Amino acid sequence: MPELPEVEVTRRGLRPHLVGSTIQSVHWSNKRLRSPMPRKFLDLYIRDGRVAAIDRRAKYLLLRMTNKSVLLVHLGMSGNLGLFPAAGPRARHDHLCLLLDNGLELRFNDARRFGAVYVWPPQQAAALENEFSARLGPEPFSDEFNADWLWRRARGKKQAVKNFLMDSRMVAGIGNIYASEILFAAGIHPQTPVRMMKKAAWQNVTASCRALLAQAIKAGGSTISDFLGADGEPGYFQLQFKVYGRAGAGCKQCGQEVKKIVFGGRATYFCPVCQPLHKRRNDSG
Ligand SMILES: [Zn+2]
Repeated sequence: MPELPEVEVTRRGLRPHLVGSTIQSVHWSNKRLRSPMPRKFLDLYIRDGRVAAIDRRAKYLLLRMTNKSVLLVHLGMSGNLGLFPAAGPRARHDHLCLLLDNGLELRFNDARRFGAVYVWPPQQAAALENEFSARLGPEPFSDEFNADWLWRRARGKKQAVKNFLMDSRMVAGIGNIYASEILFAAGIHPQTPVRMMKKAAWQNVTASCRALLAQAIKAGGSTISDFLGADGEPGYFQLQFKVYGRAGAGCKQCGQEVKKIVFGGRATYFCPVCQPLHKRRNDSG
């Protein structure tokens, strides 16, 4: 499933080809995604529109048009957004295709159809974006994302730290893979109740989070799911995972066997030695 690095890599890959180009035609499949295809708005605001910018918020991509409308795309579980020569054949599961005036076609492919496409009309775009952004926690690279913010939100909560990090209201863009990796880097057991974590531990989490995401973006995202970068080249970050998907293998730090447990319905990987679970009570830091 694409997480922040994959979406950011997609954004960086698309940007040079997309910004400044005009969308000459819009084609959609008749399949339903997580929400219905906004056909009327695609026709009204996106077709014949010109792309002014492409931004990212959490795991969403925002194509900002010069007419002030916004095309919002969420890649879901298996989605990818890529540029292809317009003359080339479309693939199965291409659910939205935007023909550009530079001979390329932007195609949103999503086999499992958990992805979503929305259009914010020009008059409402600013209000809708405020509402959308207010529901999400801070971006990991923003100043708002710091130990103090996390510590305040965690106060009194029994929730496991891994689930806490995957809650988009606490921090935007972290999913199952990077949550495991961040906690390994921070030396924190994934089931630690957040109310037990002191500010120093949260500092460790924010630093690990930024370092890891930056490294992943630099490496071109991960190919763990069906992700392909916008240029069709797979990322390589999965080769560097320290715990994710490595159950039974030796910890890269201490040699002890990496464990896999399932909680919150998700597979979780950790090293029991590097990430001990302290059973202390009533320590809200
Ligand atoms: Zn270890």
